[in-house]
Amino acid sequence: MKPCCVDSGKAALAALARAHKDATPFGLVVLDSQMPEMDGFETAEVIRQHAEYAATRIVMLTSSGNKGDGARCEKLGIQGYLVKPAKSSELFSAICTVMGTKSEKPGSTPLVTRHSVREGRKSLKILVAEDNSVNQRLILRLLEKLGHSVVLANNGREAVDMLNQGVFDVVLMDLQMPELGGLEATVVIREHEKRTGIHVPIYALTAHAMKGDRERCLEAGMDGYLSKPIRSQELYKVLDAV
Ligand code: MN
Repeated sequence: MKPCCVDSGKAALAALARAHKDATPFGLVVLDSQMPEMDGFETAEVIRQHAEYAATRIVMLTSSGNKGDGARCEKLGIQGYLVKPAKSSELFSAICTVMGTKSEKPGSTPLVTRHSVREGRKSLKILVAEDNSVNQRLILRLLEKLGHSVVLANNGREAVDMLNQGVFDVVLMDLQMPELGGLEATVVIREHEKRTGIHVPIYALTAHAMKGDRERCLEAGMDGYLSKPIRSQELYKVLDAV
């Protein structure tokens, strides 16, 4: 995304006009509801008076949810509404959702809120290959809190066996494991997949983000990379992408 930040409703309208003139219109406006002079709702109202901004989505951020805000948003052609502080994963999901909606008629699609973002999050079946029991517990707790179902493998060999027996939405794979390491296991899995035509996303979990780790992971056929200790925001981003 190419963000442009301004500090008032008036400045937002000026930026929208400039972008329109330059034929680089904004796809999305994220508005604070409480601003001096012209608040977010007033700004949205003016935006919606301009037919040339009809395709621009609006997400409203508010520090205090007020009764009737939802109806007001829908009436004004605002597609998303989040209460601050919005988690980055919530903002990300809300943006993905509103950018995927058609925006011709105000109120024609349901308002995207924190609630719908959470509800819309699919429950994934996740295989976690990790030999360290402390890490296992940590990641298990994080994933189950998000409503995902988790199967644990203690090494790469077990991970390969489990993938042969069941279907998973995504694999999180430690690199250093006894018997069969993460990279080696991934090579085996990708080899199997040549026959089945399936591609399960595999993300590496690695303790030390060593230079070249990323390249080695991708070379082995992994889709990406998470460094330990796992930060929940990064994990959410990966799972949202899945
Ligand atoms: Mn390990």
